[in-house]
Amino acid sequence: MSPLPFDSLPPHKPRRFVPQQIDLGDWTKIAPLFDKLEARPPQCATPAELESWLLDWSEVSAALDEESAKRYIAMTCRTEDSEAEKAYLHFVEQIEPQAKPRQFKLAQIHVAHPLGPQLPKERYEVFERDTKLHVELFRTENVPLETAEAKLSQRYQKLSGSLTVQFRGEEKTLVQMGRYLEEPDRALRQEAWELVANRRLREAEQFEDIFDELVRLRQEIARNAGFDNYRDYAFRKLGRFDYSPADCVRFHEAVEAEIVPVIRDLQAERGRLLGLQTLRPWDLAVDPLSRPPLRPFEQVDQMVSRTQRIFEHLDRDLAEGFERMQQLRLLDLANRKGKAPGGYQSTLAEARLPFIFMNAVGLQRDVETILHEAGHAFHALATSEEDLYAYRSPPIEFCEVASMTMELLGNEFLEEFYSAPEANRARRTHLEGILNVFAWIATVDAFQHWIYTHPGHSRADRTGAWVELTERFGGAVDWSGYDAARAKLWHRQLHIFIHAFYYIEYGIAQLGALQVWANAKRNKANALSSYKRALELGGSRPLPQLFAAAGCRFDFSRPTIAPLVEMVRRELTTLAP
Ligand SMILES: [Zn+2]
Repeated sequence: MSPLPFDSLPPHKPRRFVPQQIDLGDWTKIAPLFDKLEARPPQCATPAELESWLLDWSEVSAALDEESAKRYIAMTCRTEDSEAEKAYLHFVEQIEPQAKPRQFKLAQIHVAHPLGPQLPKERYEVFERDTKLHVELFRTENVPLETAEAKLSQRYQKLSGSLTVQFRGEEKTLVQMGRYLEEPDRALRQEAWELVANRRLREAEQFEDIFDELVRLRQEIARNAGFDNYRDYAFRKLGRFDYSPADCVRFHEAVEAEIVPVIRDLQAERGRLLGLQTLRPWDLAVDPLSRPPLRPFEQVDQMVSRTQRIFEHLDRDLAEGFERMQQLRLLDLANRKGKAPGGYQSTLAEARLPFIFMNAVGLQRDVETILHEAGHAFHALATSEEDLYAYRSPPIEFCEVASMTMELLGNEFLEEFYSAPEANRARRTHLEGILNVFAWIATVDAFQHWIYTHPGHSRADRTGAWVELTERFGGAVDWSGYDAARAKLWHRQLHIFIHAFYYIEYGIAQLGALQVWANAKRNKANALSSYKRALELGGSRPLPQLFAAAGCRFDFSRPTIAPLVEMVRRELTTLAP
């Protein structure tokens, strides 16, 4: 295997079921483990024996998960190493498709086991609930439909990723064009924005074709599973036991009533500072005082040591966790040639340790990313004593509370990177970004609710529904002359195409993070100890209990959102642009 950034790390607890030496890239070595697991439950005579079986199953799942993570990390850290790529693809193509039906079989055996109801109720209720759901929703006839869905998703990604424009004599990807929207020169911003919008519009029919087919497939999948619409199916499939479509509708209403007016006020102020009568779509990302981008650090070492100091201001345990990651070399943060783009946090499921990957180049965005990913890493460290593998993966709505909270709390100490006025500028950008994202999440979520509850809609109906939503949740931006671009704006939102309904999670989590921040303003030590306690629960409790442990309400209606928005608005008035 290709060298990893870290040295080989032993399992958190010694293996007791998986052999010490086993080639986890060889299915013929893995299959016997599943054979043994399948054969054992009929002999389990007591709940304790069944629990012991669950832990052996957990050990296999963790070993396979860590093997996949290590291969992924090796590949993304060295994209030019063809061996690393081959090793990862081998796992994805040869091991995972064989493991998946075997995992499903174990879930079926567990759900049917007569001793299941005798397991300690509180300890296992979430596991039982999730495992039953997995078994209940499975339909053999949906397997080929899901493959077709995955293929279409790939077509969307390929099409999106292939788009480039010629800008000032150079070919640029649409992602690369993003930075020109931050240029003080307004004509240049407009040129860059139009190029990208027109490039996407040229493919509009293709995006619509892909989407029509996806909607058709999804409706069929839902019907096969006994649902009359895909929205209701997706809510089950995503394991949304603790909130309903009606709760999401309340979230949309709260965003419209509480957040959109604040966004409009901020945009009016932005227009005033830029000296513009009306804002156009290319005027939203530039610094309103035309200052150059913030420069938080030169070297990645500085980013790490300053982030370390931020955690020391916050909490001793968190600081120790981040220090341990440095000692074990679980950070690969600097941008360099031969590294995959983006950033992520991955967990080594057997070592029960987190790893953070980034491409830091010295921007404020890098500071936000390291604080965010460190929050995910603290979550992984906090669950390391949990032996049930499934409970070491908390639900996404709460994972993002862990990470977004670290952005908000960490931002209080940005003077480790900046002078006081620069730190305030970074905080202001962050808070404005949070409000804008809420409005975008509501738009995307409400659109998906409309799509899947209006079967047989035409493309024109769909466009009409989208435009109505952009008016409802959009700011005071003048789109005249660009109606077509506005009508197809949703084509750029990957989730609508490839992870249907998965997006509101970020809004739910941000409400949790803002509540932890509000608590910290009253009593930082208390807020942080609740935060850490909630992280330790991993995925072992339902969402409302995870939120409660962190000191938050699990609720997305106006009474919860209004005071949080008021806090952000008050904070913004203290931060000069
Ligand atoms: Zn995250």
